[in-house]
Amino acid sequence: MVAEKWPIGVFASIDAGLGVKLEVAHELGVPTIQLHAPAKATRTPENAQRFLARLSELGIRLTAVFGGFEGESYADIPTTQRTVGLVPAETRAARTQEMMEIADFARLLNCNVVALHLGFIPHGGSDTKLYDEVVAVTQQLCDHCQRNGQNLHLETGQESADGLLQFLNDTQRDNLFVNFDPANMILYGTGEPIAALRKINRFVRSVHCKDALWAKNPGAEWGQEVPLGQGAVGMENYLRTLDEIGYAGPLTIEREIPSEPDRQKAEIGGAKHLLEEIKAKLIT
Ligand code: MG
Repeated sequence: MVAEKWPIGVFASIDAGLGVKLEVAHELGVPTIQLHAPAKATRTPENAQRFLARLSELGIRLTAVFGGFEGESYADIPTTQRTVGLVPAETRAARTQEMMEIADFARLLNCNVVALHLGFIPHGGSDTKLYDEVVAVTQQLCDHCQRNGQNLHLETGQESADGLLQFLNDTQRDNLFVNFDPANMILYGTGEPIAALRKINRFVRSVHCKDALWAKNPGAEWGQEVPLGQGAVGMENYLRTLDEIGYAGPLTIEREIPSEPDRQKAEIGGAKHLLEEIKAKLIT
């Protein structure tokens, strides 16, 4: 059986996370999800079994498990730099350990893709000691995933395409890939997303469908996340470029407004509709 090209997906959560509940994914008629890893207490073999049974019941396929950590804040760019991922030194050891536990939980869910925001990697020789430490910890994580038969996908946005390529080359692990998020390139002000996608092409193994508007001062302040199709990404061009680089995997819609579940569901529904329209046009 040939797998469907570009199955639609949505970012989902088991417990109170950023994504939608599994039931919402089902109601929206979405065949795949990426899962925001649940809190430690929830990551039990029993819960994994229960979740797998629920997925099978709903006919939904899990395509990636995303790690996130307590204490991370995306309030503004400096706060994100200080708090997110494996870059901050104070939390690095504990978070690396937790990320390996999340990979093990993903394995219980028969999921061979684990993903995360690594954080702001210092580029261009601005802090070579820290850079080398982040390379080392990423290698450690990749090796753990390798033992689980998993790939590690880095979420894009916090560095330029060139910076990310340099980092992927320096890390030298053949199970290290990219989850491409075009809106993040705009939100963080790290470069024009379509050009970045072309550069990173062979590393792109999963993607987010998210849209955003540029900030007045890109890189210094956040851009604005907006419903799919209303931002600066250009969804048709995005899908055409995915096609060009040979990407046929899931199109995972990300809309993280969990405090407004009704609006979240409506906007994801709108995004799904838009993606289906473009798919119908491009897949002949
Ligand atoms: Mg994303």
